[in-house]
Amino acid sequence: MSTRGFAVGNGVVADGCGLFLDRGAVLVRNGRIVEVGDVASIRSRLREGEEFCDVGGRLVLPGFFNPHHHLYSFFAVGLAPLGATPDFAAILERLWWPLDDVLDVPTLRLSALLGLCDALRHGVTTVFDHSASMSCVRGSLDILADAFRSLGMKGLVCYEMSDRADGPKSPYGKGVGAHGVRGHAEENLDFWRRHRDDPLVRGAFGLHANFTLGEETLAWVRQVKPEEMPIHIHCGEDETDLRFCRDLGYAGPVDRLRRFDLLDVRSLLAHLVHVSDEDLAHLECSRSVAIWNPESNANNGVGCLNRKKLSRCVLGTDGMSCDMVQTLRSACLLGEGSREDFRELGRIFFTESRDVLRRFFPDVGGLEPGRRADLTVLEYLPLTPVTAANLPGHLIYGAKNGRAFLTVGDGRILFRNGRVTLLDEEALLPEAMAASRALGERFSRRA
Ligand SMILES: [Zn+2]
Repeated sequence: MSTRGFAVGNGVVADGCGLFLDRGAVLVRNGRIVEVGDVASIRSRLREGEEFCDVGGRLVLPGFFNPHHHLYSFFAVGLAPLGATPDFAAILERLWWPLDDVLDVPTLRLSALLGLCDALRHGVTTVFDHSASMSCVRGSLDILADAFRSLGMKGLVCYEMSDRADGPKSPYGKGVGAHGVRGHAEENLDFWRRHRDDPLVRGAFGLHANFTLGEETLAWVRQVKPEEMPIHIHCGEDETDLRFCRDLGYAGPVDRLRRFDLLDVRSLLAHLVHVSDEDLAHLECSRSVAIWNPESNANNGVGCLNRKKLSRCVLGTDGMSCDMVQTLRSACLLGEGSREDFRELGRIFFTESRDVLRRFFPDVGGLEPGRRADLTVLEYLPLTPVTAANLPGHLIYGAKNGRAFLTVGDGRILFRNGRVTLLDEEALLPEAMAASRALGERFSRRA
């Protein structure tokens, strides 16, 4: 990529993993980080016509990464479930499954575009999305990928395979949708094959959750999924999932995936709230990615990931927002043994997140020269001293949310002055309001 160079600086430059400059700057050229140093030395390196973006004392951090999101939920705000939701199963059956059944091409496209604008507004440069649209399966991942590309963002997309679409064969037997698991697999496999080395958007094998995937289906996934293709699944979100796996003779949801040979270092396992000690041992062994979604878990009332037993994890939003700083604050307040050690939360937020991101995009993550230039400058202006040690405290108690001042992806300015730069977001709004209203009407008719 050839883009004009620029520098971002005159603020705290930190990667949360050791690099810390009190008044630093980052020089970016051709999509990559060229140098990180003090303001004067970086200014002196600028060539004619290259801009110095003065952040006025704000925080300059690596671009944020959301490893578990559902862009399709963007238009669910304010939707009333189709009946009482006393437990997790009812939330799925009366809100999410009827909703994902009535999504269509316009709502998928617009929710992805506007959801990703919102991600950029919160300094997020990479999103791993988990998508479900049971009446619109084929081509749905291309719709999402086009949205990522039009905003200059990186991502991993997948379609959530679930037996719930197959009627009588499903453990749920709901018969929603008309495509079935084979269609879900084809969508995942086809996208993954076509985008294996794509610099921006790659694929994964999406699976809903153990409890909506029968034994035959998982055995078939094992056969058709190439070994190197990562899976992305909800795992142990609610007690239902653990009980389902135990009833089948497994030690738990992680053990079941292991027995079907679906676990490796790039398996993305969201939640892990209801898991057995054997599950945690298998997780440790496989080094699969554990994704902690504190706001979603609190919202669904399913409990909380046990941080005393599971120290290695990354933070995700699970569709609640795309605000990673707010999610960090929620992790602090809602975590097991709340108000955890800030060093631990900082390690999860920066180091673990960087390391997981590099498993999928090896030249992304961090601020070292040579890396693809993904930067977040928060709107927050610290008035008290910032140190490497108290940086998580500034994010939790100072920033309060992760509104961005400037977001850079692959060396391009993607968000600035309160607006995304590659797309006219405002021009989409009338169409989005009409599409979301029609979606709400289709949803209500399912009652
Ligand atoms: Zn989820």
